[in-house]
This record gives sequence, structure tokens and C-alpha cells, in this order.
Amino acid sequence: MKIVVVGAGIIGVTSAYELAARGHEVTLLDKREGAGLETSYANGGQIGACEVAPWAGPEVPGLVLRWLGRADAPFRLKLKADPEQWIWLLRFLMRCRASARAQRVLPNLALALLTQARMDAIAAHAQSEGAPITFNENRNGILQIFRHASDLKAAAADIETMRSAGLEQNICSARECVDLEPALVSAIQKGEIAGGIYCASDRSGDAHLFTARLAEKAQRMGVAFVTGAEVTGFETLGDRISGVRTKAWLFGADAVVLAAGVATTGLARLAGLRLPVYPLKGYSVTLPVKSDVVPSISITDEARKIVVSRLGDKLRTAGTAEVCGYDTNIEMLRARSVLAATLDIFPQMNEVAEEAVFWTGLRPMSSDGSPIIGQAGRFTNLYLNTGHGSLGWTLGAGSAAALGDLICGTAPQLDLTPFNLKRFYWT
Ligand SMILES: Cc1cc2nc3c(=O)[nH]c(=O)nc-3n(C[C@H](O)[C@H](O)[C@H](O)COP(=O)(O)OP(=O)(O)OC[C@H]3O[C@@H](n4cnc5c(N)ncnc54)[C@H](O)[C@@H]3O)c2cc1C
Repeated sequence: MKIVVVGAGIIGVTSAYELAARGHEVTLLDKREGAGLETSYANGGQIGACEVAPWAGPEVPGLVLRWLGRADAPFRLKLKADPEQWIWLLRFLMRCRASARAQRVLPNLALALLTQARMDAIAAHAQSEGAPITFNENRNGILQIFRHASDLKAAAADIETMRSAGLEQNICSARECVDLEPALVSAIQKGEIAGGIYCASDRSGDAHLFTARLAEKAQRMGVAFVTGAEVTGFETLGDRISGVRTKAWLFGADAVVLAAGVATTGLARLAGLRLPVYPLKGYSVTLPVKSDVVPSISITDEARKIVVSRLGDKLRTAGTAEVCGYDTNIEMLRARSVLAATLDIFPQMNEVAEEAVFWTGLRPMSSDGSPIIGQAGRFTNLYLNTGHGSLGWTLGAGSAAALGDLICGTAPQLDLTPFNLKRFYWT
């Protein structure tokens, strides 16, 4: 089959790779000049099966109210005269129930575990070809730290469920946290850590490097990667999409995969689909590593609402969430709040604070915290792979493999029913 994949972020590139590996003639289109240059560019780096619970939860409405009016709040709402924003917010608020959150944990976890398995298989294949994919991968695990014992207790409630689904995590005392990660010494001394949850099998790494290297590998396998190709519409024939239009070209297609991050919502609308996916803006700060006392384990600081990953000779912190539309300007007050949180927990990084590189990106967030994967709408050959929100790096390779099975009609590695767009018809 001739398959056109729209978008060359982590989701589109892994999709193109999986489809090419199954013998299809794949064209990958992106409006930018290369792969992984939008939201997949400088994210928090965590490939964290332990982090798959949706962000919508019972505590969220209270936190939003508490932070209302604070420009540097970890979560901020900037309401607009935009029905798309209001409808998404309403759907998101309706998911802020413990039962709704719990419903998504196991499906997301299965996808995260498949992602780690697929990334291992891709790495092994690249290695066997003599062209390893290097992306500053770190396999020291992820440690979630909590300031209050009550928060640790609440988070620990999921551990048994996740263990039964194949993910081992350990509860750690404050002392055990610092034994695992000596760079936390200052936070321990200030009495800021009540304890933690450690997941040894989780990883971190540079999503942009992986995406760019995998795009090169896919091209060697025959994928035609066309950059500077902004998709503007579709040609249709009955119940099928027959071509994908850019300003300059028309690409004939037997099947089309939409994986354009936050732009997927607008593209899907051209095909008559309404997606509950809206941008959730976040920031990251990247610092050079010059001290010995730098974390080697990826950390999630639940009180400061940041994640920190060691990416080779760099330290990356990411955080904040803002519902403010499609604006990608860097607001320095918010970017600096992520830097301040980093320096607060790791004061040893103060000496390199002047060298901070700030970045912002838009998470393509579905209202229920799980991606949308599969065929959708009246066009029988149109497939979606989007809405990964804060988990695109964690769920990307698994989403692509499962979609590859579906499109090719091969034995599914994962049941995609929980990720079908139809689940939103009733919520
Ligand atoms: C601050 C921050 C921290 C994060 N931390 C983590 C983390 O630690 N772990 C994790 O798992 N996830 C994390 N995420 C989420 C993760 O980065 C995203 O879920 C993921 O990058 C989304 O990938 P994507 O391929 O869907 O979108 P993108 O990477 O945005 O790719 C979409 C592509 O589509 C292209 N495109 C758009 N419109 C068109 C068009 N009309 N025609 C052609 N091409 C088009 C774009 O140019 C782009 O290349 C974070 C996100 C942010 C913002």
C-alpha cells in the first residue's frame, strides 16, 4: 500500500518506520525542515511507564482555583473566545474524577510497556546494521519524590494495580531517596522530601535525537521524507481519501495517517472529524552539566511539578501547563519559574544558570489523558495517531507499532479499543 504519514514528530516518525518495516511504500510529510522540531524537540525526556496516570484528577479543580491569577503558576488557564477551548475544558473537567483517572491507567501502561519493548527492538535492529541510534538514553530509572506523606500515600495506591500489569515500583523513605540519588542532598537537608516511589525499569533520553535518527533509518528503509511540505487538504473519492494536498504537490494515497501533534485537530476537521485534543503549553530549561553532584536518575518532583532528566552532558527540566491556545511565544516569567524550581532543588546548578536554554512546546492533550489511535470517521482509510499530551515520548513507539498492526491486519500486539475516537461519543 501507498501510505502517507502527516507529521514527523516522535509519533509520525515511529508510525512511518513501523509501516515501512511491514513492507509498505511510505511518504512522510512535514511542514518543517527536519524531524522532531516541534513538540518532540526539547521535552522532559522521561520514557516513564510509572507516569501514565492522566493529569485530570480530583485535585485539579482546587489547584487551578488556588493558582488563579498567578502568572508563574504551574497550571494556568487563559480563557479565550474560542469554543474549541471551552468544549475541551468542559470535557477535561468532567474527567477530574478518581474513577475516570483510574480507567485510563492500565490501557496507558500497556502502551508504555509496548513502547519500551519496541524501542529495544528498534535499537537492536539499528545496532545489528552497524548504525546504532544514540539519543543519550539513561536507564537509571525514574524516582518520583513527594513533600508530604499524604501525597506519597495517595500516589502509592496505584502501585499494586500496576504491579499486576507488569510494572515494578518501590516505595522509598527520604533516606533511601538520597541513597539512590545523592544530588538530592540539599532537598533532604531542607526537609522537603517525605519519601518517593522508584521505578527501576523506566528510562529517559533525548526525544529529538531519537526522532531525527529514526527518520534517517526510515529513509534508508525506503521512506520518502518530504520536508517543507505543509498539508493543506485532502482529495476524496467516495468513502476514501485518495490524496493528500500540500501547496505544491498532491500525494496519492491508499491510506493516510494523521500524526501532526496539535495541528491534527485542524487537519482532522477538514475530513469532518472533531477531536477532543487541545494544546497544553509547557516549558523546558536545558543546562550544561559541569558539577559532579548532578542527578543521574530521572526525577519527578511532585511538589514543584517538574521533571528532570540527565541527557548526556546536559540537564533538562520541564514543567508548567497552560491552556492558552496555539501561542508558542516564550513568556520569560514562566520559563524562569522552571529554572527557579531547578535551582531550588539542585542549588549546585546555580553556577551554570546563566547558560540556561529556554524552550516552549504544545502538548497535544486529549481530554481524558490517553491518545487516539486507529481508524476514525467516514473515510475508511483515514487513521489517527495523536493526543499523546504529556506522554508522547513514553507512548510513541508502542502507539506506532499497534497502529501498524491495525493498518496491516496482522495479529495485534495490543488491543486498541480503549484508544478509539469512539470512546468520546459518550463523554
Ligand atoms: C514541556 C514539555 C515536556 C514534556 N515532557 C515529556 C516527557 O518527559 N515524557 C513524555 O513522554 N512526553 C513529554 N512531553 C510530551 C511529548 O513531547 C509530546 O507528547 C510529543 O512530542 C508529541 O509528539 P507528536 O509527534 O504528536 O507532535 P510533534 O512533535 O509536535 O510533531 C508534529 C509534527 O507535525 C508537523 N505538522 C504540523 N502541521 C502540519 C501540516 N499541516 N503539514 C505537515 N506537517 C505538519 C509539525 O511540523 C511537527 O513536526 C512533553 C511536552 C512538553 C511540551
